[in-house]
Amino acid sequence: MKRINPNVVPSDGYKFKDTDGVEISGKNWVDLLSNVISYRKQNKVSTKGTSLEILAYACARHPQLCSETSQQVDLPGAHKLNPLKSRVIQWLLRTPKRPKDHVTKPEVEARRQICRSCPMNKPFVGASECRSCNHALGNLQERIFGSYRQSPGVFGCDVYGVDLTIATWLQKPQVMNGEIEGVAPPACWVISGS
Ligand code: SF4
Repeated sequence: MKRINPNVVPSDGYKFKDTDGVEISGKNWVDLLSNVISYRKQNKVSTKGTSLEILAYACARHPQLCSETSQQVDLPGAHKLNPLKSRVIQWLLRTPKRPKDHVTKPEVEARRQICRSCPMNKPFVGASECRSCNHALGNLQERIFGSYRQSPGVFGCDVYGVDLTIATWLQKPQVMNGEIEGVAPPACWVISGS
């Protein structure tokens, strides 16, 4: 599977040519995805798998931006989990241990406030499913930020497939990954200009 490096800007910008030949551009990968999905919705075309199509298109045009994911990112039994939890675990496995360049506490709280009112903020830890996976999830969360505490009202992001308690601490490029699904609302701190 291909993974794109979110820290490198493509030489000709963020672009995608849809199946009808129309070229769509964006300010970043999420903006591009959002624009392609809007275009397809307007034209009553299915949006399923759009993010993977954009990823394949970008990697075909700019192979230097992409790498194969060689590491085993699926935990045993992860395929039985709800999709968001599975995506969060995969993201946690790729997240560096104890990042030093995290954002300030006021910034973290401001981000969490935005997420709390966002419909894409969804619970992802079900006590009834896969206890060993829940245990592994807890271990991963602690590995990244030491003693881990859930933040009230902040769960998983269904757009980026990330654990929001941890993601709200990180620099934006670490939150962006190849697992984007759907469209983030305009108020989302990940795509806002600041
Ligand atoms: S889309 Fe943005 S604002 Fe909404 S939950 Fe995800 S990170 Fe938070």
